[in-house]
Amino acid sequence: MPPLSDRTRLIASATRRGQGRRPVSPPVERASTMLSDRAEAMRDEAEGPVYGLQGTSAAQALREALADLEGAERAFVVPSGLAAVTVPLLALTRPGDEVVTTDAVYGPTRRFLTRYQAARGVTTRFLPAEADAQAVLAAVTERTRVVLMESPASLTFEMVDVAAVASGCRARGVATVLDNTWGAGLAFRPLAHGVDVSVQALTKYAAGHSDLLMGGIAASDPRCLSAIANTIEDLGWHVSPDDAWLALRGLRTLPLRYAEQGRSALKVAEWLKARPEVSRVLYPPLPGSVGHDLWRRDFAGAASLMGVVMRGGDTAAGRRMLDALSLFGLGYSWGGFESLITHEAHQMAYRDHPSTLEGELIRLHVGLEDPDDLIADLERGLAAFAG
Ligand SMILES: *Cc1c(COP(=O)(O)O)cnc(C)c1O
Repeated sequence: MPPLSDRTRLIASATRRGQGRRPVSPPVERASTMLSDRAEAMRDEAEGPVYGLQGTSAAQALREALADLEGAERAFVVPSGLAAVTVPLLALTRPGDEVVTTDAVYGPTRRFLTRYQAARGVTTRFLPAEADAQAVLAAVTERTRVVLMESPASLTFEMVDVAAVASGCRARGVATVLDNTWGAGLAFRPLAHGVDVSVQALTKYAAGHSDLLMGGIAASDPRCLSAIANTIEDLGWHVSPDDAWLALRGLRTLPLRYAEQGRSALKVAEWLKARPEVSRVLYPPLPGSVGHDLWRRDFAGAASLMGVVMRGGDTAAGRRMLDALSLFGLGYSWGGFESLITHEAHQMAYRDHPSTLEGELIRLHVGLEDPDDLIADLERGLAAFAG
C-alpha cells in the first residue's frame, strides 16, 4: 500500500483495530494516582503509568499522533508552546555554552534566552533577522551547542535554508532546534530536513479553537530524546487530560483547517499587496514576498499568518485601522478558527540589529470566515488608516 496522506493518517490512528470495544476517542482520565491490583503489578511497566505525571491515555494518544505527524521517533507534550521551545534549549545546553539564533525569533523565546539562560551562564548570539545559512554557520564557534531556527520567523517572516544550516551544524556537532509553529508539522517537516528537534505551539493550528495552551516537541536522535525526557521529568511539566483530549481532537481536522485558512490567507495577501496603503506583505507563499523561493522549495502548504508593512503611517493610524474592523478580533495568538489582528511595530525595538520598516507593521491571522467578507472588513480598516 502506498504511504497514507496526512489527512488519512491523523484519522486512521483512531480507527485502528485490535483494541477491543472502545470509544472512538480515548477517555479523559483525570488522575494523579493509578491503582494496581497487586503489589507486584505496581512495578510492571506493561500495566501502564502508575502516576499522572507520566501522562494518561489521551496524552499518550496525542504524543503518538504528533510523533507520526512529525516523522519522529518520539514526541512529548508540555504545558505551552513556549515550554516546547525552552525545554530543548535547557536540555541541550550547560553553563558556558552558546546558542546562535536571529533577531527574528519569537519574542518570549528571546526573553528566555536573554533573561533565564543568560543568568544560567548560557549566552546567545542574535544575528540580523535576514541572516542566511552561510551567515548562521559562520557565527558558530566552539562554544556553540545549539542553533535555534524559526522559518518563517515570527513577525517579519524571514526564511532560512534549513537543510543547509542543519547539515552544517551536524558536521560541527551542533544541535539544531526549529520552532515549526507556522509549518504545524504539516506544511514542513523539520526532521526530514536534518533538524534534530522540531517544536511547535500546539496552541495554534493543532488545537485550532483558541481554547487551550500546549507545546509539542518531536525528535529521533536518542541523545536529544533522553535529554528532553529528563528535562521534562526534572521540571515536572504535565498537560491536563482535558487539554490533551482537545488537542487530539484538533489534530483530526488540522489538515483541512490549515489548507482552507492558507487558501484564504493567500487571497487576502494578494488583495492587500495591490492596495496603495500597503507597502509590502510579509508572507512567503505570496509570489514576490521575502522568502518565497525557499517556501516553494521546502513547503507543502501555507499557514494563514502574515505581516503587513504599511506605507508610512504612525501608531495612531494603526490604531484607527484596528478599531475600524469588525470581523478581526483584536487579540494575540493565531491558528484558531477566528481571524485576529495586532499592531506590532513596537516589538522591533528589542532587536540587536533594529531594522527600520518603511511603515507601521500589522500582523494578521486569517481564520475560517469567508475571505471576501474579511477583505471587505479590511477595506474599511485601510480607509481608517489613511485617515
Ligand atoms: C505562540 C508561539 C509560541 C508559544 O506558544 P504558547 O502556547 O503561546 O506559549 C512559540 N513560538 C511561536 C512561533 C509562536 O507563535
